[in-house]
Amino acid sequence: MSTSAIRLNALQMAQNRPKVNVDLPSDKISDYFGSQVFGDKAMKAHLSKEAYKAIRAARETGEKIDRDLAEQVAAGMRQWAVTKGVTHYTHWFQPLTGTTAEKHDAFFDPISDTESVEKFTGSALVQQEPDASSFPSGGLRNTFEARGYTAWDPSSPVFIVDNKIGKTLCIPTIFVSYTGEALDYKAPLLKSLHALESAALDVCRYFDKNVKKVQATLGIEQEYFLIDEALYNARPDLVITGRTLFGYSAAKGQQLEDHYFGSIPERIFAYMLDFETEALKLGIPLKTRHNEVAPGQFECAPNFEDINLAIDHNQLLMDVMEKIARRHGLKVLFHEKPFAGINGSGKHNNWSMGTDTGVNLLSPGNTPNKNMQFLTFFVNVIKAVHDYPDLLRASIASTENEHRLGANEAPPSIISVFIGSQLTGVLHEIESNKTKKAEGKAESIQFPRIPEILLDNTDRNRTSPFAFTGNKFEFRAVGSSANSASPMIVLNTIVANQLREFQTALDALLKKGTKLDAAIIQILRGYIKASKNILFEGNGYGDEWKKEAEKRGLKNITEVPNALMAYVDDAALKLFESNGVLSAKEVHARYEILVEEFTKKIQIESRVMGDITNTNIIPSAVSYQLKLADVSGKMKELGMKKDTYEVYVRTIEEISGYVTALKRLVFEMVEARKRANHEEDVVQRAHLYCYEVKPYFQEIRYLADKLERIIENECWQLPKYRELLFLR
Ligand code: ADP
Ligand code: MG
Repeated sequence: MSTSAIRLNALQMAQNRPKVNVDLPSDKISDYFGSQVFGDKAMKAHLSKEAYKAIRAARETGEKIDRDLAEQVAAGMRQWAVTKGVTHYTHWFQPLTGTTAEKHDAFFDPISDTESVEKFTGSALVQQEPDASSFPSGGLRNTFEARGYTAWDPSSPVFIVDNKIGKTLCIPTIFVSYTGEALDYKAPLLKSLHALESAALDVCRYFDKNVKKVQATLGIEQEYFLIDEALYNARPDLVITGRTLFGYSAAKGQQLEDHYFGSIPERIFAYMLDFETEALKLGIPLKTRHNEVAPGQFECAPNFEDINLAIDHNQLLMDVMEKIARRHGLKVLFHEKPFAGINGSGKHNNWSMGTDTGVNLLSPGNTPNKNMQFLTFFVNVIKAVHDYPDLLRASIASTENEHRLGANEAPPSIISVFIGSQLTGVLHEIESNKTKKAEGKAESIQFPRIPEILLDNTDRNRTSPFAFTGNKFEFRAVGSSANSASPMIVLNTIVANQLREFQTALDALLKKGTKLDAAIIQILRGYIKASKNILFEGNGYGDEWKKEAEKRGLKNITEVPNALMAYVDDAALKLFESNGVLSAKEVHARYEILVEEFTKKIQIESRVMGDITNTNIIPSAVSYQLKLADVSGKMKELGMKKDTYEVYVRTIEEISGYVTALKRLVFEMVEARKRANHEEDVVQRAHLYCYEVKPYFQEIRYLADKLERIIENECWQLPKYRELLFLR
């Protein structure tokens, strides 16, 4: 059997996949949208009026649900779930690493040795103790010997996951230690939303007393790669680390850009239809699908929703996409940079705030009053980003995303804000304009006029990490595998904090007798002046920007351990604490978890890299050398002239050179790892992994990729980029 049997078999499997048929439940999406969700319709049918009202109130105003009512809600949920064939329930939560976690329990409750009842109590709904010792808690649990428990989040509806073997009722929950520290993403997210929404509401009420509620909104665009499952399985690096640690870029890369505008291949289309159907049943409002720039890369996006729900839905969507891919012999890759040299994947976070009166606070209006409200929120967001760029940078830092940022059409690691030429003009006007006096009357303010439709498509900047796109900000530096709660916790908190500062400044001026309009414009003018250097309209990919940014004092933080440090500086700790989002203890714990996660990932990548070099790449090289030795030996035996087979001998030598260098590098990398492992301090260890271990990856890969180009196709074991990427 040839060395490359695994690869060639995988290629054959990939080419001969039978067509998968997708049965749609109905021609009309509205017939099945949300059918697996305990939503409004199901609640009305299965809950008492009282219980129904309690849930609505919990969703709309965050009111607590008392025990008696929880009992009723649980009974109604079970009733509904049982009619849908559900046998188990689980608390569903979002630990700090990984996507989501579950622990299943049966409704079934034995009452004698032959009898049982279906049971689901209020307390089972409200609180659970999962066996949480395996979830990261950054020393919190050790320090306090606390056990983790999950607690129901009534603001996100329960849903049914159907995995064809059984159906499970999933209850969205937060995950906290027994002493109340958050061990997950959802708990601080909810707190940050509370901080933002209440601060925004207070500011809104200067403009419109009728506003009773502000809701922060999020629309998440999800990019991903699809590759054939058999080829995926033949790449241990992809299987274990989520990215290719080796591989020479395909000759036909993105240069032709034919993929982006091309039609979606049939096999992919069937997959999309299948997962979309599943997602729609779960109430995930998927709207768009298309090819992305890189070969094998795609994107989908739902309609925006309340942030908490949008994030639950995105986490769930990733699960659904992975699950459905199996049916199609596909593997979906959410890694930010599965393939070197071509585009990575992001998760664009479109963020805004809306009022219960139907106003998008980041949508410019056509009346002066609306205008002023828009500019207030708009400028405050810019000021917040200006004041806390490092924290935003930290919120998107991950081992995976670092490969993407600043490379191949991805935003750089430098945080800046793009607002477009029109709004740049408007801000300039406010900054330079003295307050104008209307004829004869007391001083009044002329707000710059802003057309309602702001940005046309030519005024888009794809290179900006944080761009205003007409009626929302788009945080584009977020990585495709990230839990959006991480950047949203930070964004919500810094904007909440900023709005509170604004409010304080405004009240002070009003107290002094300044008119509202004049006071607002005076404050905004100060903010515009102060935060000018975060605004950047040019090409974020260029090297000139790096230089320019440095001049402006904007940081370009390219390594995870450095980026994460922003979480634990004094300003950040104070910010999180004073806005009631995270205690200093919680921030420190999270910081440690993230630092350790980085170390672990580099450690794993390093091991896989060594293994593949020794057990795949070098053997491939050797088998080709044998072939060459064989042929040159035979040629010599035949009495052929030396210069006819010398080329083979030289190739053997060339390969030996690479193999020797690879062996040496792998050895040195292992030694570097050992030194790093001896370091007890978590942060120091991460730095050692970052600066002493990780640099070997490039060097090893470079040589291995050289070999890929020399060694006969038949001998090469790992599926090549061109085979992985051009799936049809
Ligand atoms: P793009 O040109 O970037 O694809 P789209 O108009 O398709 O822009 O919007 C992308 C995402 O932004 C969608 O998920 C959409 O629902 C979301 N979005 C639109 N308006 C808002 C808003 N007010 N708040 C949050 N997200 C929004
Ligand atoms: Mg977008």
